[in-house]
Amino acid sequence: MIKGRIHSFLSMGTVDGPGVRSVIFMQGCPLRCAYCHNPDTWDFSHGKEVELEELLQKVLRCKPYYGENGGITVSGGEGLLQPEFVAELMRRCKQKGIHTALDTSGCVTGEAAEKVLEYTDLCLLDVKFDNEEDYKEYTGGSFEKTMEFLELLESKGIPTWVRRVIVPSVNDNEDSVKKLAKIIKPYTCVKKVELLPFRKLCTPKYEMMREQYPEQASEYVFKFEDKESCPAEKAKALYEAAEFNL
Ligand code: SF4
Repeated sequence: MIKGRIHSFLSMGTVDGPGVRSVIFMQGCPLRCAYCHNPDTWDFSHGKEVELEELLQKVLRCKPYYGENGGITVSGGEGLLQPEFVAELMRRCKQKGIHTALDTSGCVTGEAAEKVLEYTDLCLLDVKFDNEEDYKEYTGGSFEKTMEFLELLESKGIPTWVRRVIVPSVNDNEDSVKKLAKIIKPYTCVKKVELLPFRKLCTPKYEMMREQYPEQASEYVFKFEDKESCPAEKAKALYEAAEFNL
């Protein structure tokens, strides 16, 4: 019996991949992005354990709503931290004709990634910044590792949507998005780019986490609380300016 730890299950979402999709938010993430909207997924032990069969039944109940383009998206947290569970979930979904997407920061490579990518129809890859320094400072992750993951996607020919959150006074400038365009230009697997405006809706979540886990209060700090939200028009204008070659 395969078990995994998830944060939550969203029956029908429309923003994480094409069409109507069930989104499985996996528990646990090694990164600590300064603008993270899901800090409640960080600590592996805070999630709930589910059996694969139970989750699969939920997915199958939603299948009629997926239409031609929908399916499931494994998000998080970071799904690649539970490769056996995620790979088997995707494998079973594909057996039932359900499209599978992986929403990831690309922070895990090697055998774990290989396992999951074998059953991944589409990857939503966050390329959060374009250099090692910003990655370290704002996410705790690595630019090099992300690029290694993109290489893997390219070598496997997995259709990929590159995503980036646009944060005022951090990366909301033409130079930054043009650099992103340059970085992804050689990768034919990249089919789409989404620039997502930074929003501050997650402030109450950080407060809730500090209350619930006072011993970890210092960890649950919303580092970008002082930043303004990014207007949707700004992200749209930057997209135009970047001239992505897709
Ligand atoms: S990768 Fe960053 S934004 Fe995504 S869950 Fe982890 S910390 Fe949050």
